[in-house]
Amino acid sequence: MPRVLIVGAGIAGLSTAWALARRGYAVEVFEQGPVPNPRASSYDEHRITRHVYGSTGYAELMPHAFALWDRLFADIGARHFDPLPLLVLQRERDAWFASSQASLDSLNVPYRAVQVETLAESYPMLSTEGVSAAFVCEGAGVLFPIRILIDLSVHLASLGVVFHANTKVTAVDLDAGTVSVDGGVRSGDVVVVAAGAWAERLVPALRALATPSRQAVLFLAPPPALADAWRDAPVILDIGAASGTYALPPRPGTRLKIGDHLFTRIGDPDDDRVAIEEDLGQLFDAARLAFRDFDAYRILERKICYYTVTDDERFVVRPLGRAGYIQSACSGHGFKLGPLIGEGVARAIAGETAAGDLAEWAAARPARAA
Ligand SMILES: Cc1cc2nc3c(=O)[nH]c(=O)nc-3n(C[C@H](O)[C@H](O)[C@H](O)COP(=O)(O)OP(=O)(O)OC[C@H]3O[C@@H](n4cnc5c(N)ncnc54)[C@H](O)[C@@H]3O)c2cc1C
Repeated sequence: MPRVLIVGAGIAGLSTAWALARRGYAVEVFEQGPVPNPRASSYDEHRITRHVYGSTGYAELMPHAFALWDRLFADIGARHFDPLPLLVLQRERDAWFASSQASLDSLNVPYRAVQVETLAESYPMLSTEGVSAAFVCEGAGVLFPIRILIDLSVHLASLGVVFHANTKVTAVDLDAGTVSVDGGVRSGDVVVVAAGAWAERLVPALRALATPSRQAVLFLAPPPALADAWRDAPVILDIGAASGTYALPPRPGTRLKIGDHLFTRIGDPDDDRVAIEEDLGQLFDAARLAFRDFDAYRILERKICYYTVTDDERFVVRPLGRAGYIQSACSGHGFKLGPLIGEGVARAIAGETAAGDLAEWAAARPARAA
């Protein structure tokens, strides 16, 4: 059976390994840190998943993504997903707000408008000043990545996938199908580079397309008076220009987390991962506009995470050379689509779909999204 060497044990690499192992491929995964690696973009307490997506074409992929998550949870024997409603808040008029509702219409995913006057009563943690419209939708929730990565790697090992932890790949030859590690060269039939924000070091061609971006998030303890409200809260997306934030409520085993939507496009993924004041200024400003009494929240962790950013927020996933693939989930929305994109890469490797179609499909260009 063909041998596939995968660089990176984040959700991208593990998902591709899962899809290939199910097809009977011999798979080896090389990871520069432990498996899973706390420095990976994929490693966190929770990630948002949602059908609602605006007009990019990714909404059309989401039903397939949800179906594959179900299959993955069945395979690993644990459902690391909490379905939660998603509350979207618009302040100044924003095209994304209307196009996201259109995407829900097209997928028949239920949503309902929330009267702005009732927002503060229903969601007492919000600062509602300036909110012009809001809706709550279904078809969303929270994935639990750390648990997913752990259980998936255990499952993959049981399928015969070979892990090389703490094994940094120093070079790849995407024509020969080889990776260089520990001063030696390992040969396969295909090499998949799923190296997250580090990928450009192995595939310099990626540099022109995707930029590593240093992103700050805060884990928080809300003031006691708001603890119950947060415990019952939906996932919250505030798309205001100044108040733009996302919030994941605390669920069993996770803390309240907030982040913002601005890409910094700076930094090096090998840098320290504790957010400093310069990283957090924008997020604090946004959070004070988005949440009532924000200064009364206690900070539990200031975390830095890296992902790659493309200009149009589309993924870079394509064949490269005679025996290689690059799999880069860009712009901060790649976790939810990990298993689906991994399936697409495996299909292309197996010849079930034309490898030449992969890039457009993974970029969710509408003509190819189906
Ligand atoms: C703050 C933040 C919030 C986010 N929120 C969401 C969200 O709500 N919903 C969502 O869907 N997505 C979200 N994302 C995006 C999502 O987490 C990423 O798109 C996804 O996890 C990327 O997975 P990956 O496997 O491509 O990269 P990674 O998880 O970074 O994995 C790459 C792996 O490759 C390894 N590696 C790199 N170089 C080498 C080498 N030379 N040799 C060996 N191993 C190597 C790394 O150590 C790492 O383990 C968010 C990301 C961040 C940072």
